[in-house]
Amino acid sequence: MRAKTLADSTKQSTQSLYIQKLVIAYNGNKTTEIFMEKVHTTCIYCGCGCGLFLHVENNRVIGASPSPLHPMSRGRLCIKGWLAGEFVGHPERLRHPLVRQREMFVRVPWEEALSLTATRLKEISRESGSESVGILTSAKGTNEENYLFMKLARAGLKTNNIDHVARLCHAPTVAGLGYAFGSGAMTNPISSLKEADAILVVGSNTTEQHPLIASYILKARARGAELIVADPRRTQIADLASIWLAPRPGTDIAWINALQNFIIQEGLTDEDFISTRTEGFEAVRQAVSVCTRELSERVSGIPAKDLKEAALAFGSAERGAVVYAMGITQHAAGTDNVQALANLVLMTGNIGREGTGLYPLRGHQNVQGACDMGALPDLYSGYQKVDLAREKFAEAWSTSLPEEPGQTALEMLESALEGRLKGLLIVGENPMMSYPDRTRIKKALEALEFLAVCEIFPTETTDLADVILPAASFAEKDGTFTSTERRIQRVRRAVPPPGEARAEWKVARDLLRRMGVAADYSSAADVMDEIARVTPIYGGVAYDRLDLKGLQWPCPSRDHPGTGILHSEKFSIGRARFRAVEHCEPFEAPDEEYPLILTTGRSLYHFHTGTMTRRTSLLEREVLQPTVEISPDDAKRMNIRNGQRVEVETRRGSICLEARVTQNVPAGTIFVPFHFCEAAANALTAQALDPKSKIPELKASAARIRRAKG
Ligand code: SF4
Repeated sequence: MRAKTLADSTKQSTQSLYIQKLVIAYNGNKTTEIFMEKVHTTCIYCGCGCGLFLHVENNRVIGASPSPLHPMSRGRLCIKGWLAGEFVGHPERLRHPLVRQREMFVRVPWEEALSLTATRLKEISRESGSESVGILTSAKGTNEENYLFMKLARAGLKTNNIDHVARLCHAPTVAGLGYAFGSGAMTNPISSLKEADAILVVGSNTTEQHPLIASYILKARARGAELIVADPRRTQIADLASIWLAPRPGTDIAWINALQNFIIQEGLTDEDFISTRTEGFEAVRQAVSVCTRELSERVSGIPAKDLKEAALAFGSAERGAVVYAMGITQHAAGTDNVQALANLVLMTGNIGREGTGLYPLRGHQNVQGACDMGALPDLYSGYQKVDLAREKFAEAWSTSLPEEPGQTALEMLESALEGRLKGLLIVGENPMMSYPDRTRIKKALEALEFLAVCEIFPTETTDLADVILPAASFAEKDGTFTSTERRIQRVRRAVPPPGEARAEWKVARDLLRRMGVAADYSSAADVMDEIARVTPIYGGVAYDRLDLKGLQWPCPSRDHPGTGILHSEKFSIGRARFRAVEHCEPFEAPDEEYPLILTTGRSLYHFHTGTMTRRTSLLEREVLQPTVEISPDDAKRMNIRNGQRVEVETRRGSICLEARVTQNVPAGTIFVPFHFCEAAANALTAQALDPKSKIPELKASAARIRRAKG
């Protein structure tokens, strides 16, 4: 039996742009017809937000392929995108609601699981006050889901204790850029990068974490643009750079201030832009005037001559762009790091034009959307402040709402340890793997009186739950994701969820009803209509407008085409704000006992805590086990060979894994990826918080390493 080519055998052509039905005829003794659908949706993994088709046969996802017309990905996907459908049909999916009874999970009807969840959370709230309950929602969930869980916390449980994983990745971006520009979002479309004359990439392993964004950076590089990469590790993009700066982890402000000082001394600032569009420059000029390149070299380890070269390349570019990711944000000085980069683009006038701008790269596919939807303790959807917008939302939702801002994710878990937070609903997050200091997180979750978890797979967190609610994956529900370039895009149901699993927006709706809040939604589109009514930056968004390209916010009205470049004419706060920032030592400097700096991050082949990618056979095959990267100098000094099992230890705990001796990390630094539960990097990291955004210091912990026993 030989299959005809797809082109030969397609009897029924495209029915619509979004759902294509194909009938494939196979030749043989007799002709067999196989029906296949291609459903247009958005990738579940990183914030690039690539468009893809899921291929469906007999209600099963059998593959994925790129969307040729997508404005950013343009017919391309990275390996994770090509394999995005494989985990959907995995046999370990959660299929039925489960309730813990005498240390065993017992299958129960949805009615019982939902009623138990609503009743227990309300009971705890009544007995111990509304601050004793909270919700952690998910950057993997849709906008509609995040909006409804935000509403559930505020209108149902009367608490602002609502947060999500942005607290551990881009909370400093929301706080830092919100202050500097009036909007904590990427300033330009991703494609604008290809027009830049100089690109500074800081703390972003772009070719592995955001491969499609890297393709635009490399297009600019091929055109002759200067590419300056600052990263302690020699990543692939550092290898492709014209200038690689390797700062010690936790010293970014020291070298960025020195870079600015040199740009000012050389007269490379844009005085016209500074005087007409900004305020507060004089304080920054004074603050950085003492930051010499020699001082920066002593603190950061970056040679003064390399910093001079980078300053001249960036400062003299007609169009300069700055790209950053969690190497900048995941520090106890995360918000100040972001402000330092904002100061740089403002003083060089690199904002509001094609090829310029500041590009925070969001890790999850919908961390931008979850922030937009107000899954944050101090903001409603559209970044409307709790104190200013409470009455507006109370009227829209016909209910009373809490006044005080709530607790952030780690504050909630700290409260749990102290017995103040007693009930928690976690939706699509796995804090046992993704939050710092795993031992402490486990104690906090175990201390709760009631924990409900809504998930697609069993995780280290569902193991601790009282109720497990089985959720639909991205392939099994309708909704929208908002990519890192503020592009709101459709997610479409391609197959039914397994067993009794349900879309989380339905779970949130049903919990709202059980808590006495009106929730008259019959579809995800109804939820988006409400979002548009109460969220000015999404005011013109509706499903019938979200074609293959989506819409970039702000999109305030039905006739608005969306916004590509922000701040081109004016900032929403009038003038952009400079703020002087100073270098502070990281929370944990290396010492005699713990002489190395541990930094953590991702691999190209895995995503976050590995819940989905470690159930994707081809991706799992690429990285068979976790490794710790160590420099040849350190390895020699500690008598460690490549491939040997070693123990990495910090003041919080220890893990055993294989050593990978590589020139890619400098002496004094080791690197562990955080996807692997068998060697959980977050058993080692600390909970030192940035006072402004409350992000923990995940990128710099004092550590030691030795050959494993046995
Ligand atoms: Fe998916 Fe990101 Fe890869 Fe695009 S670059 S296919 S969004 S993982």
